[in-house]
Amino acid sequence: MYPAQFQYHRATSVQHALDLMAQHGDDAKVLAGGHSLLPVMKLRFATPAHLIDIGRVSGLSGISESGGTIVIGATTRHADVASSALIKAKAPLLAEVAGHIGDPLIRNMGTIGGSVAHADPSADLPAAMMALGATMELTGKGGSRQVSADQFFVDVFQTALGSTELLTAIRIPASSGACAYEKNPDPASGYAIVGIAVQLTTSGGKVSSARVAMTGLGPKPMRLAAVEAALAAGADAASAAAKAADGIAFIDDARGNASYKANLARVYTKRAIARAMK
Ligand SMILES: Cc1cc2nc3c(=O)[nH]c(=O)nc-3n(C[C@H](O)[C@H](O)[C@H](O)COP(=O)(O)OP(=O)(O)OC[C@H]3O[C@@H](n4cnc5c(N)ncnc54)[C@H](O)[C@@H]3O)c2cc1C
Repeated sequence: MYPAQFQYHRATSVQHALDLMAQHGDDAKVLAGGHSLLPVMKLRFATPAHLIDIGRVSGLSGISESGGTIVIGATTRHADVASSALIKAKAPLLAEVAGHIGDPLIRNMGTIGGSVAHADPSADLPAAMMALGATMELTGKGGSRQVSADQFFVDVFQTALGSTELLTAIRIPASSGACAYEKNPDPASGYAIVGIAVQLTTSGGKVSSARVAMTGLGPKPMRLAAVEAALAAGADAASAAAKAADGIAFIDDARGNASYKANLARVYTKRAIARAMK
């Protein structure tokens, strides 16, 4: 299938991209790796008249550390995140999750910013963003603002990004703490039927705080607050994971009924916590 006709623009800087976005408004879409946008255009679910390619904007790609914070440019490819020595040392959960995305072709083309901005409810990275306490840098003509991952994901394919804003960078507090990502992949696409990201902070061999986030079983990624509280209170993996479905109204759909989904949440949460604790 072929997309509808569009005009292609190659942005040369963030400012140039913002100018093009302001000029073309709702008729335009930003293009990063194209691995979510182009399939949607081929199906004609999206028919933008203008594509603004940010893939070659210098300064939008790369991984660095500044004052205990890891800064990742929006157009950094999944493969570069997964293989980065800095990410492996200072945000190992993110390296693990990025390595779970799709296949090598997807990881070599798809970008961290594209995945996060697209906010597919079955994508892997949104759960990692929440578990890691990431902050999104959103840049518009008036400057940049910082939005926490907890506030960024709004609903199915909906984020806090304004229509004339670009996601320019993602910031993650450096951490070498215990972590794990456990995913049940869809056998056809590789997307998460369920994915549980766990980041633990330990003190004296005990869990002092925990961030646990789930993707795949709802309209957007979510923190599992009851599990986090149980872990902070000293619960083991099994008893903390037993709370994974607490307070969540799962719905019956083509992927399974609500009780099956609640069970998936508990099983994968237990696996992720147990491996993180090891
Ligand atoms: C066969 C296949 C399998 C896949 N498997 C997985 C998987 O297992 N797990 C998973 O998580 N994902 C999977 N993906 C999705 C993949 O990770 C995509 O690359 C990613 O979701 C989108 O990144 P992109 O750079 O390709 O973005 P694009 O497709 O270029 O853009 C996606 C959307 O985000 C917007 N956008 C992009 N960048 C920005 C920005 N900086 N600021 C504002 N808006 C922006 C675009 O306008 C568009 O609406 C798969 C994709 C395919 C085709």
